[in-house]
Amino acid sequence: MNDDSFRHWAARAVQWGADYRAGLRERPVRAQTAPGAIARQLPEAPPEQPEPMETIFADFDRIVPPGMTHWQHPRFFAYFPANALPVSVVAEILTANLAAQCMLWQTSPAATEIESVVLDWLRQALGLAPGFAGVIQDSASSATLGAVLTMRERALEWNGNRQGLAGQPTVRVYASDQVHSSIDRAIWIAGIGQDNLVRIPVAGPLRGMDLGALEAAIVADREAGRLPAGIVACVGGTSVGATDDVAAVCAVAARHGLYVHVDAAWAGAAMICPEFRSLWQGVDAADSIVLNPHKWLGVQFDCSAHFLRDPATLVRTLAIQPEYLKTRGRDGVINYSEWTVPLGRRFRALKLWFVLRAYGLEGLRTMIRNHVAWSRKLAARIAEAPEFELVTEPVLSLFAFRLRGPGAESDRINLDLVDAINDDGRIYLTQTRVDGRVAIRFQVGSVEATEEDVMGALDVMREVAGRVQG
Ligand SMILES: *Cc1c(COP(=O)(O)O)cnc(C)c1O
Repeated sequence: MNDDSFRHWAARAVQWGADYRAGLRERPVRAQTAPGAIARQLPEAPPEQPEPMETIFADFDRIVPPGMTHWQHPRFFAYFPANALPVSVVAEILTANLAAQCMLWQTSPAATEIESVVLDWLRQALGLAPGFAGVIQDSASSATLGAVLTMRERALEWNGNRQGLAGQPTVRVYASDQVHSSIDRAIWIAGIGQDNLVRIPVAGPLRGMDLGALEAAIVADREAGRLPAGIVACVGGTSVGATDDVAAVCAVAARHGLYVHVDAAWAGAAMICPEFRSLWQGVDAADSIVLNPHKWLGVQFDCSAHFLRDPATLVRTLAIQPEYLKTRGRDGVINYSEWTVPLGRRFRALKLWFVLRAYGLEGLRTMIRNHVAWSRKLAARIAEAPEFELVTEPVLSLFAFRLRGPGAESDRINLDLVDAINDDGRIYLTQTRVDGRVAIRFQVGSVEATEEDVMGALDVMREVAGRVQG
């Protein structure tokens, strides 16, 4: 591709993107394609000769969009959002053009310094204490892996990386059963083992860890010669928004010298609104926090913000040349690859910088406040609807409900309803289990959603439920 052709096709791609976004409402939200249908449209062998861009682009347009679930759709109410505001797409195009490896300050001074500054902007926006330093990870899963490795190394007095885990005391980590599966995987990858992720039962309407049980588990482990290392607290769990009492968890941790990592991957974004901060009250006592601007702040995937009270512990865990640590802060140079598991890093700070500037905190707060208000309004309507039952009250903009049905039939009928709704295509929802029974999750988070989109979902649900039941 020569310079002229690059100009032409890059411009075409941008035009395509604008048209795609403008036409999203006309598309079904969830892909309506059968397994294998897309693969069958591709040749089995790679091309031996170059193909014209016109053909490649035409095939993209014909094959790809119908085979996608549309995450930017205004009526996407499934999972959590993965919003990409247009301004963040613009920044991502620039990042793709720079195509830099941002592993060291020297390989990317602007990327490194903008990352430091915009993460400090974000820290201020969230109301976190000035001591926290931030880094952008590719995902919350990676941030949590870094935190679990840090817990392990800190507890093993920095011997795990060197000596391996054989012969070390048994490392123990505590969390409720409401934490995300990325915590389990971090435990596996860190060599701690699933059996040493101690599940603390939850209590109360927010399904937070029972603090007495947490403390008892730590004490029992100590007495049995095991090594308590840390606690993963959850703020806005993926299933129904379960939230631990962060202040109380940190107080337990402080009594026992444990590390606390707070997973607020989705809910953390809402903390730019002071009125929601009670949800993670006491968070300044945590050792690390992760939240994903790539979920609810409109910053294109991937952009996960990882805040650390003492980055030196993470760097000591991950840096391959610990003497680098000694220069950090002295000459002001940060090599962010020492804060992350992968060495290579993209210039992710650019899109966060663009979004924060183009919307301002007030613009982003308005979006989040609307989502929360509409979610509450819809949940109240569902609670009044005779055919539905509200299963969990909204935590920010997430709640769960179910179609009423005879006890034994309830799970099947609700799974059928989710399938039927998603086959219908006007809205997109996913299921979960609450206290062992199937429930349907509903979260409001699309940057393009309007109040009509959200309230109109009830009409779709009622209509489809009538078909499922009838
Ligand atoms: C989405 C989510 C994750 C995983 O985030 P990734 O960035 O995809 O790794 C972890 N925890 C919670 C609570 C989440 O909502």
